[in-house]
This record gives sequence, C-alpha cells and structure tokens, in this order.
Amino acid sequence: MAATRFQCTLTIASGPACQSYARVTIVDSEGATARGCSRHAVAALDGIIGAYVDWEDSRGLNEWERQALDLSEERSQLAWNSVGSELAPRP
Ligand SMILES: [Zn+2]
Repeated sequence: MAATRFQCTLTIASGPACQSYARVTIVDSEGATARGCSRHAVAALDGIIGAYVDWEDSRGLNEWERQALDLSEERSQLAWNSVGSELAPRP
C-alpha cells in the first residue's frame, strides 16, 4: 500500500491506521520528513528528540493545533540541545 501525501503516517506500528487528513510535516534530526495529522504530529514530536515542524509545508492548521505543535517542537528541540551538549561538549 503506497502512502499518499495526505495520509497520516505518524501512527505507531501496532496501532490502528489513522483516517485523519495529514496536514503537518515533521522533520527529524537527520532531515527525514513524515506527514501526519496534527494530533499524531504532536505525539511524534513528543517522542522524537530533535524533531521540528516544517511550517511551510503544514497548512490548514487552527490556532490550537499550531500552539500544540509549537510547544512540542520546542520540547523536542530542548531535549535535543541537552543531549547534544552532553554528547559533544564544546571544545
Ligand atoms: Zn493521525
């Protein structure tokens, strides 16, 4: 089954398929992108360290969805920075 651009692909493998329209693109710390609905994008950001939202590619979000994504993105980046500074101390 080929995933389409509008299919939410951020569900957990063991969970049921998500029927929501994928409107959010998230990018992980390695630059890989995935699209999903706002609810699963928030969950994914909370579960992936160093991920962020590709806002340019994320359309049709309401104020609350943006806020939730923004907060999760911030947490993910903070986690990334603290891990990064532990693994690679500044010279
Ligand atoms: Zn979803």
